[in-house]
Amino acid sequence: MAVALPSFFTAIMIMSRLMAFIGISKNNDMSSKLQALDIAPKVSHDPSAIESASQDFGHIVKAAPQAVLLPSSPRDIASLVNFSYSNSVPFSIAARGNSHSLNGQAMAKNGVVIDMTSMKSGNGTGIRIARDGSYVDVGGQQLWIDVLNATLGLGLTPVSWTDYLYLTVGGTLSNAGISGQTFRYGPQISNVYEIDVITGTADFVTCSPNNNSDLFYAALGGLGQFGIITRARIPLEPAPKRVKWVRMLYTDFLDFTRDQELLISKNGRNDNKALNYLEGSLLLDQGSLDNWRSSFFPPQDQPKIISLITKFRIVYCLEIVKHYDSQTKTTVDKDLQQLLKGLSYLPGFMFEKDAKYEEFLNRVHSEELKLKAKGLWDVPHPWLNLFIPKSKISDFNDGVFKSIVLKRNITTGPVLVYPMNRKKWDDRMSAVIPDEEIFYTVGLFQSSGFDDWRTFEDQNKEILQFCEKAGIKVKQYLPHYTTKVGWVNHFGSKWSTFQKRKLQFDPKLLLSPGQRIFNNNQ
Ligand code: FAD
Repeated sequence: MAVALPSFFTAIMIMSRLMAFIGISKNNDMSSKLQALDIAPKVSHDPSAIESASQDFGHIVKAAPQAVLLPSSPRDIASLVNFSYSNSVPFSIAARGNSHSLNGQAMAKNGVVIDMTSMKSGNGTGIRIARDGSYVDVGGQQLWIDVLNATLGLGLTPVSWTDYLYLTVGGTLSNAGISGQTFRYGPQISNVYEIDVITGTADFVTCSPNNNSDLFYAALGGLGQFGIITRARIPLEPAPKRVKWVRMLYTDFLDFTRDQELLISKNGRNDNKALNYLEGSLLLDQGSLDNWRSSFFPPQDQPKIISLITKFRIVYCLEIVKHYDSQTKTTVDKDLQQLLKGLSYLPGFMFEKDAKYEEFLNRVHSEELKLKAKGLWDVPHPWLNLFIPKSKISDFNDGVFKSIVLKRNITTGPVLVYPMNRKKWDDRMSAVIPDEEIFYTVGLFQSSGFDDWRTFEDQNKEILQFCEKAGIKVKQYLPHYTTKVGWVNHFGSKWSTFQKRKLQFDPKLLLSPGQRIFNNNQ
């Protein structure tokens, strides 16, 4: 195509602003035309459907669509996209997984939201395990908890997870899907054989590294910009029965990160002696020991942990897991001892649990239920998720944890900090990570009242400003920018490929407008 990219996008921007100008009549027109389609009975204008499609887990952004599609099959989704694509005035479309986004990423203001979860199973979007057990085919709308339960039924499991399992496969694959397994197995996007995608031109495409690979790499980590993932083929391995789950405390950040990096250096996918999971977190004076991450520490040890936190104000907690089954039951403790030999955690501050594999993986859900019972789950979540190069993590600790976070003293939710290996990611995919071989993820998972979330957003801004001034080249995970410059900087050298792929797979800029990448006004 001979169109110069910048001028193409400028033309589209002008068109979309004009379209916003004539929005009301356009949308009335769109609604009436939708009624003439074969999917009309599945298009809802019900106020409660519109209201729930206007919100997300963040409870910070609100944007109402004109309608919500409740598809029964990928064909319904393709019909909707095709209708918009061929319409003289196209409208925007957002797939909505479980709506656990934080800043409106699954919303479509004045467009149509596709409620993916209405497509429970059947039509090739269920959960089907291959006969030889090597992979599972999963509908994009499926929740990871359901994938876990279905595969465990046959003694099998995917290997790369998120901390929380009530997220959809399509939603996490559009970001990356990270957790304590990432250092060894890579993010969830590194654990996909094949996907089915409905593009912004309404084409239904099966893609993999060998087949339509451009779309495969575009869609994984692609923030919903290139197509709607309706199926993913995910590799399986034999499931362990139980886990040894250990937490160790540190007061010295250098000791903490040195030990984390040492442990993730043993990361061979098939290395049975390596850990299966590694994370880390801050224990803060303000925070409760038992926040939503898990009630872990034995009650009798809590007083001594609390006095440690009171004395040092920040305590670092290294968390690891080693799987075992009936064959490795007798050797797992020795293997673990070997791995932990020579680490610098505080003597007397190592705590161990033995848990079922699925209990460990589903650990956040029990905390969710407790928070829900107290009315503290459906509240604003001004979260900040960052990737930080290893060379700057100590500066980050000094400038953010020990300075901004302690000074403001408002952070009560979990704060995670753990490293991962760049080589486990595939640079051809759309996901963006720092350039260094080891980088850390930091997540400030803050909850607030409906009136005070701005105080947390101010802290998040201060953290980002500090990083910029200090030359810490962070990348946002679950990125959120409101300006084009923000996105161009975020993607860095990947920006031109990202733009080219958008032009190829969604040239009318229909998909996932809530990300505000191609439709921001600044
Ligand atoms: P949605 O929020 O519904 O959608 C996210 C984006 O993807 C939107 O742009 C949407 O349009 C697009 N999209 C949705 N479905 C599809 C599809 N089928 N095809 C194409 N695009 C699609 N993330 C981690 O990596 N690790 C974690 O441990 C983790 N823990 C979390 C814990 C909680 C409590 C919460 C709320 C979030 C957590 N997340 C974590 C973040 C989570 O992965 C993202 O917010 C993800 O987008 C949520 O998935 P969802 O299914 O609700 O997607």
